[in-house]
Amino acid sequence: VVELGMPTRSVVTTCAYCGVGCSFKAELRGDELVRMVPYKDGGANEGHSCVKGRFAFGYADHPDRVLAPMVRDSIADPWREVSWEEAIGFTARRLREIQAEHGVGSIGGITSSRTTNEEVYVVQKMVRAVFGNNNVDTCARVCHSPTGYGLKQTFGTSAGTQDFRSVARSDVILVIGANPTDAHPVFASRMKRRLREGAKLIVIDPRRISLVRSPHIEAAHHLQLAPGTNVAVVNAFSHVVVTEGLADREFVAQRCEGYEEWAEFIAGEEHSPEAAEEITGVPAAELRAAARLYATGGNGAIYYGLGVTEHSQGSTMVMGMANLAMATGNIGRDGVGVNPLRGQNNVQGSCDMGSFPHELPGYRHVGDDDVRGIYEHLWGVDLQDEPGLRIPNMFDAATEGSFRALFVQGEDIAQSDPNTQHVHAALAALDLLVVQDLFVNETAKFAHVLLPGTSFLEKDGTFTNAERRINRVRPVMRPRTGKHEWEIVCELSQAMGYPMHYESSAQIMDEIALTTPTFAGVSFEHLDRVGSVQWPCNEAAPNGTPIMHQDGFVRGLGRFVETVYVPTSERSTRKFPLILTTGRILSQYNVGAQTRRTANVAWHPEDLLELHPHDAEVRGIRDGDLVALSSRVGRTTLRALLSDRMPVGVCYTTFHHPVTGANVITTENSDWATNCPEYKVTAVQVALTTEQ
Ligand code: SF4
Repeated sequence: VVELGMPTRSVVTTCAYCGVGCSFKAELRGDELVRMVPYKDGGANEGHSCVKGRFAFGYADHPDRVLAPMVRDSIADPWREVSWEEAIGFTARRLREIQAEHGVGSIGGITSSRTTNEEVYVVQKMVRAVFGNNNVDTCARVCHSPTGYGLKQTFGTSAGTQDFRSVARSDVILVIGANPTDAHPVFASRMKRRLREGAKLIVIDPRRISLVRSPHIEAAHHLQLAPGTNVAVVNAFSHVVVTEGLADREFVAQRCEGYEEWAEFIAGEEHSPEAAEEITGVPAAELRAAARLYATGGNGAIYYGLGVTEHSQGSTMVMGMANLAMATGNIGRDGVGVNPLRGQNNVQGSCDMGSFPHELPGYRHVGDDDVRGIYEHLWGVDLQDEPGLRIPNMFDAATEGSFRALFVQGEDIAQSDPNTQHVHAALAALDLLVVQDLFVNETAKFAHVLLPGTSFLEKDGTFTNAERRINRVRPVMRPRTGKHEWEIVCELSQAMGYPMHYESSAQIMDEIALTTPTFAGVSFEHLDRVGSVQWPCNEAAPNGTPIMHQDGFVRGLGRFVETVYVPTSERSTRKFPLILTTGRILSQYNVGAQTRRTANVAWHPEDLLELHPHDAEVRGIRDGDLVALSSRVGRTTLRALLSDRMPVGVCYTTFHHPVTGANVITTENSDWATNCPEYKVTAVQVALTTEQ
């Protein structure tokens, strides 16, 4: 068998790309990974996969991998390869020196949605117990933080309501600001199966995503709204529900609070489809028809993505969708619900693990004395009861001089965060930037210490997908760097004087289970036995919870919230007459750090600017021309792709390549409640150019 080049052993693990969380059998010949085979018993994928999970794993042994720690005194100096001992000692000493000079709150950390739950948990523990503050935030800040806020306000917990299987029981599927075919392909297949069986589809998106019209699927309604006007659309839906007597009065009477006041608010003429037409550009008759279909068409399910959250009203929109689902009784059973399609593999987990500056693991506020007491007792330290800095606040404080050192785990903030110029200025102002990553990425260019990280093939732990499913990530090979990432964090904590030690990542999960009620029944042993489990998993739900809020909401009664539409301050002007919005393509992934280092890059070697033929013609632009894209904060160049998928006046690009750097263009606008950046609305100008 070996002579024929066939695999000799296999390890079941989890894809490290999107929030679908597909299980794979990694098949090896000796120590060499031969192929990734979708695992038929995988709870999220049941034997299916997409091109990323199947083929884009070669980055793990790409020559760009950093395998030994590196340090330098200043970012003008060349990197110096050092031992682990020296790198950790240097980092610990500098962190303590900076705190001694500038105060306890002058340092902080950012966790990653690409790393395991266990790796995230130890970083937030290090910040709280060792750094002595709550200056810890997750990269979910820039994607799904409004989901966390909005669903907690209305339902009581920061997570989607359904399992993926539930879509097979939906009659009307409402897709808002998401492109599942490209961004969540395996879940999109489930959805398409149901649509081919006859479920009705409503798409709310400025761009004609492929789901709108694909083989044997035709959306009943594609509401091609102006970017930034989601809240006006969802309010119009609710207005129709309330004023046309389509609400599920029994459900709201038994399960919710605040309905009467909210119904009076939403029945106001300013929320009518006619008023929304003025704001969104979507004909009132179409809004009314789509709302009636959702309210009366049977089981109505909402699936949404970053086109909802990455707006100045991202949190408002999440609450608006929750209002709509509650008003129509579309919560708490199979086939319905409000479901965020998470971007990265462990967005849900990084949020669950307490890496928000105001929340300990399990979404419990740092100001809650009882909860803080649990950790103070276990960790043997006093914890701060005031929330710490969010990522954008860290950048602002760095440029102002009060924030001086940052530990960044597995996230390329210099490329992924908005208003690149401001981020670069903040990173350059730090006295110490520590990056834990696979590559010398854009952020590492500002770093003083680079602690090499591990790929998913080397990790031992868990990821939690968009349906709250906790999947095992099993090591296919030993860490090529010689250390697990959680070991590095423990050693750094010890070097700073705090005893943090675990025998294994399983022991970290045991601590998570001990302190977090929704994880109380989770252990590696349990996961190995049952395959995977969806939280809450505890005494009340030993087999996990595929569908939430069945008998009551987590907060008791579902809460209606008045969602006032407030226009974004980002408007098209004479100087910047077009609106830019952003997204992803199937073969690439986020900032492309991984996929650009695999064969996938050949499929899509550069970011393109999708431009409506009319907008191109008036500028003398033809397909493939090099164009300059500029906004009030920056300028970049890329090639034009003429496409009528965008309406006139709106253009679109991806952000997979650092050379293009779409975030040079995006502004500092952000969600009012969570500071999630408004990536989806930027006023721009496009012009022919010859300069790169
Ligand atoms: Fe990986 Fe997502 Fe593709 Fe599944 S759908 S294989 S999790 S990238």
